[in-house]
Amino acid sequence: MHRLVVRMIAALLALHGTVADAQSRRGRSNNEVASPRIMTPFPPRRPAELKASKAEPAETPLTSTALEGPIGPPACFGVFFERGGIALPVAADGDGACTIKDPVTFRAISMPGGARVEFDSAVTVTCSFAVEVVDWVRDDLPGIVSRENGTLSRLIGVGGHACRPRNGVPGAQISEHATGNALDLGALGLADGRTLNLVGSDAAPRPLREALKSSACERFKTVLGPGSDASHKDHLHLDMRQRPRDYKICQWQPD
Ligand SMILES: [Zn+2]
Repeated sequence: MHRLVVRMIAALLALHGTVADAQSRRGRSNNEVASPRIMTPFPPRRPAELKASKAEPAETPLTSTALEGPIGPPACFGVFFERGGIALPVAADGDGACTIKDPVTFRAISMPGGARVEFDSAVTVTCSFAVEVVDWVRDDLPGIVSRENGTLSRLIGVGGHACRPRNGVPGAQISEHATGNALDLGALGLADGRTLNLVGSDAAPRPLREALKSSACERFKTVLGPGSDASHKDHLHLDMRQRPRDYKICQWQPD
């Protein structure tokens, strides 16, 4: 594992210069990247994390397939880490229609100021999708949860890779979850212990949920939430499925 980690770091350092190019191609606001917050490819892991991550794919041997490819996965990984993503690149996950391109096992985000937003479970998704999630969580969510005088600390009910047809219906088109291009989210956890639920009698105030919907629909190609269909009555589904003419779906009825 040590040798593989060294190889990974060497590859990332060698391609460090490509990160700025990749970022400018994305055309995003990049104020945070200029800060000295830049992190090492592999965040230090506390003993507790090492113990807890025994079963995680972080221990999966890193193969060259995770470091090669036409877009240059190291460039995506570099953007991901610099934006605040906390994950480990992993060897190809899934096969056939369920292959994830440039997979990362994603479990937290480093926020401006150094706080972390932890996922309640790690998810394996494609690196480019992970970057979209990082941008949304870092740039949009703090302002939204501040409506409740809260600081975001957890993403609750997180789901990622699942090799299955859409909504689990046999014969249906393959789900974006199958290719690591989607994330499910059940609720937002605040640093003071409160939970902002998306639905139910204890749901977060409607204006907050409306703001969450607006920002999600701005960022993602598909947003399905409570009120859209039976499969999404208790969580939010976000994905980056590309459709003709860049058609987007934004269905969530916060009530
Ligand atoms: Zn979903």
